[in-house]
Formats: sequence, C-alpha cells, structure tokens
Amino acid sequence: MPLPCAAGFTSRAAMIEEIKQAKARALRAIQQAATADDLEKVRIQYLGRKGIFKDLLAGIPQLPADQKPAVGKEANLARKAVEENLNARKNQLGAAKPKAVKETFDITIPGTRPQYGRLHPITRAAYELIDIFARLGFEVVYGPEMELERNNFDALNIPQEHPARDDFDTFFIQDDILLRSHTSPVQIRTMQQRKPPLRIVAPGKVFRRDTPDASHYPVFHQIEALAVDENITLADLKATLDTAMKAFFGPDTQTRMRPSFFPFTEPSAEVDISCTFCGGKGCKTCGGKGWTELLGAGMVDPNVFKAVGYDPEKYTGFAFGLGIDRAAMYRFGITDIRLLFDNDLRLLGQL
Ligand SMILES: [Zn+2]
Repeated sequence: MPLPCAAGFTSRAAMIEEIKQAKARALRAIQQAATADDLEKVRIQYLGRKGIFKDLLAGIPQLPADQKPAVGKEANLARKAVEENLNARKNQLGAAKPKAVKETFDITIPGTRPQYGRLHPITRAAYELIDIFARLGFEVVYGPEMELERNNFDALNIPQEHPARDDFDTFFIQDDILLRSHTSPVQIRTMQQRKPPLRIVAPGKVFRRDTPDASHYPVFHQIEALAVDENITLADLKATLDTAMKAFFGPDTQTRMRPSFFPFTEPSAEVDISCTFCGGKGCKTCGGKGWTELLGAGMVDPNVFKAVGYDPEKYTGFAFGLGIDRAAMYRFGITDIRLLFDNDLRLLGQL
C-alpha cells in the first residue's frame, strides 16, 4: 500500500480522513495479531521511525497555519489510541502464555499416586494351583457352567432320587439342564472324548443353593483333579495331594485322610491339612484340633468308568475336588468367605 504523501493533501478534511483510516487499519491489525511478534510488526509499521504515523505527522507543517492545530490534535489522538490498543493486546497475548500458568502451578506439591491393580485372591489361588498341578503333569481342561443333569449327576453315580443329590442341590435352568454343582462333569466330558491315560485338572465356578454365611456362598470355585491309568493306587492320590498341598500352603504342611463317602469314588476320603493359622498346635479357627478340613478325594467308582465306556477291570484312577475359595481363605488368613465377594478394596489391597 503506497503511503500517502503529505504534500498531496489538499485540505484539512482529507487529511483528517486519512488519519482516521490509518488508525482504523492499525486497530484492526492489532486485533488480528496472534503473537507478540505479529504485534511488534504492527507497531513498527504504524509507530516506527519510518512508520505511517510519522509520515502523516510530517505533512502537518505544510498545512495552512489555521488548519495545523485541528489536524495535529487528530493525529496525536489517533497515535495515542493505537499505542493504548497495542499495550492492551500485548497484555492479552502475554496472559495466554504458559508463563502465566506456571506461576499458579506449585511443583513442590506431592503428586497423586496411581492405584496399582492386582489379581483377586481367588484368581491368584487358582493360578497357583493350576501351576502346581501342571508341574505334576496335569493338563488343564474347562467345561460349561450350564450342564446336563446327566453329566452333573447320573454319570457320576448319583441317579435321580439318590439322597446324595441333596448335598449338591443346585439351580435348574430347565428339567435336564442346571448350573453345575461341582466341576466333576468336566471329568465326564473329558473321559467320553478320550482314552486313558488321563491326567487333568478342571478349575471353574460352581453353584449351590446355599444361604451365604462365613463358610458358604451360592457361587464358589473348585479345582478338580482326575488321573486314570492302569495300576493307579491310593498311594498315588496321597502322594499327589501331599506334594500339592506342601507346594501351596508351605513345606511344613501335613495332610491326613479320613474315611468318607462320595457316590463317585470308592473308597472315599476327606482330606485335612494341618491348620494354617496355628501350624497344627490348635487354635480358635481349627477348634483346637490342629487340622482343617480342605477337600474330598477317592478312587474313581467303577460305575463312573462304566458310564463313560472305560473298562473298570483294566483301569483305575483317583479324583479329588478342592474349593479354591477355601484354599485362598486359609492361605491369606481370611475367616469369612463373603469377604472374597464384597470387592472391598480396603481388604483386597492388603492381600
Ligand atoms: Zn489352628
């Protein structure tokens, strides 16, 4: 844009108009300046030593004497307005800079520590048990939580009307489909698909119609083991359990078997471990006995083998089922199973 030449002004009115236009252009440029550098360029263009206002003012002496004061006053007012706008915009741009933000941020205030996640005690216990049995040569298999009545009961030597069904009372979806009351149906499914030798563990959720109390919950977790081959004996069962329990609860853990009854094993045993709270001396938790009941076990009943098409004269096997929740409670010193399902981070954060 060519600068107006002062000599070219013919009247006071024309010159005042020129000043007003220059001022308007300057104010617009100031508002459009996005950075301090832009603003400095505007300042040099209008107020600099060779700036537009310098040129305008230079024309004043050449005006007739009676016109000089009015034009001079207008020019000074315009320059002052431009200067004020420049300063205001400068402050505005300065306030938007991080420098101003920095002043309100105290780097000495301690930071917020993020909460670290961890595995739930039931998951930890399940993973550890799976790992222990995997090292003993057991393969992990899974089955559905909704089961056929046949796999949950009949094939496990618990026919309809058998009183043992009361011990495994569960939730029926329809007449022949239920929420599994133990992980034993996974054994049936596996034996139907494969031939011996077999060594499997089946972990998972199971369901029973229990009212929640310190040691019962309608949903809980089991890990069940099954070994089938020729010449498997009770000694194999005892050695496997003893090794696994020592690995999970500690090398000083003792195990013992008491005669019991389960429809799917013969003979059957309840397996106790030395109390993890008192180490076997006797305390309130174990009722002074020094032992706590942990799981059920036994040699697979010949009727179960018949149900899946194995020859009971040729094969023998052992099975046991362990409550993962109960194992986690003994291991982590929890005395109420409901605490495992409350999801209270104050408890879970300590384990
Ligand atoms: Zn005890």
